[in-house]
Amino acid sequence: MQPKKNIVHLPVYKPGKPMDEVKRELGLTEVIKLASNENPFGCSPKAKEAIIANIDQSSIYPDGGAVELTAAVAKHFNVRTDQVIFGAGSDEIILMLARAYLVPGDENIMAFPTFPQYKHNAEIEGAVSIEVPLKDGTHDLQAMLDRINDRTKIIWLCNPNNPTGTMNSHQEVVDFLNAVPAHVLVVLDEAYAEYNVSGDYPDSIALVNQYKNAIVLRTFSKIYGLASLRIGYGIGHPEVIRSINQVREPFNTTGFAQKAALAAIQDEAFINDCREANAQGIVYLSEQFRALKLPFYPAHGNFMMVDVQRSGAQVFDSLLRKGIIIRHDPTWQLPTMIRVTVGSQEQNEKFIGALQLALNEVTAGV
Ligand SMILES: *Cc1c(COP(=O)(O)O)cnc(C)c1O
Repeated sequence: MQPKKNIVHLPVYKPGKPMDEVKRELGLTEVIKLASNENPFGCSPKAKEAIIANIDQSSIYPDGGAVELTAAVAKHFNVRTDQVIFGAGSDEIILMLARAYLVPGDENIMAFPTFPQYKHNAEIEGAVSIEVPLKDGTHDLQAMLDRINDRTKIIWLCNPNNPTGTMNSHQEVVDFLNAVPAHVLVVLDEAYAEYNVSGDYPDSIALVNQYKNAIVLRTFSKIYGLASLRIGYGIGHPEVIRSINQVREPFNTTGFAQKAALAAIQDEAFINDCREANAQGIVYLSEQFRALKLPFYPAHGNFMMVDVQRSGAQVFDSLLRKGIIIRHDPTWQLPTMIRVTVGSQEQNEKFIGALQLALNEVTAGV
């Protein structure tokens, strides 16, 4: 047997250790996970009720077209229902975009470092990934434009960018879209959009209505707190949505996910509270990082990237032993950087306390 030659080099996704295992191995009673940008406040109680109310439907296939949820999302954003597509997380929409648009030899452009799923899925299709280094931690949009050629099919803009948390403004994205040729699809991955309080975050729904070759991706995994249910969505031009639908599996989102998402998108009070708490968390963490003289990127999602000015891997290990799981990834090629999810105030304070100890343990100067 011979798998496709473009997949043999791909790493198998290595999930973070389950919290119970970390507790057992390190003999800890409490572990705080600030590693995956999950919502520290869980999800809306209305979403929980919706799941429980539908528990008897487990034996029934879900609505493959997610008709009710499509109508609700379309109404929420004032777009047509044929502009909306759902995936098992926005991860699956990234996969479907690669599947629908990329053939071997095609090129796709992304930042470096950025969310790894763009390159991963492009490689499965045999496409060539052009990775453009961030400039001051932010997408270098001009350098990305400079790499477009006749083979370019997709450009991925991760905004705010994961792992740096930095963002590109509405005007920057408009100027970018004006310069991108019509044969290139621009994917605006906005997994953290609902957290944004900057005032100049792109009005992407207006942009996808204006630019046929732009699609915006959102998810219920982050501020909505439904990561385990796997549901995200894309909004774009009907022709793009149709192409994605052509490669979509018939029952790609579960009935529970659809019902929970429907309740979640209607509970605006919960989302507003989470956004507010997150903004306060960023203020708190920023103050603490300044006091510790650690540089950090301006944060526009629910996570922060901070320069610990020592081995990030060692700081990660030291924090883990203290029961705090954060993220450090050697593939970022940012050896002194760590990424931490903004938690509840209590979690943030425990993280800062543990970080102070960890910084002392891991001597400065890498
Ligand atoms: C978390 C995340 C996603 C998608 O998560 P799903 O759980 O698959 O919806 C997409 N893009 C970025 C940048 C993310 O951080």
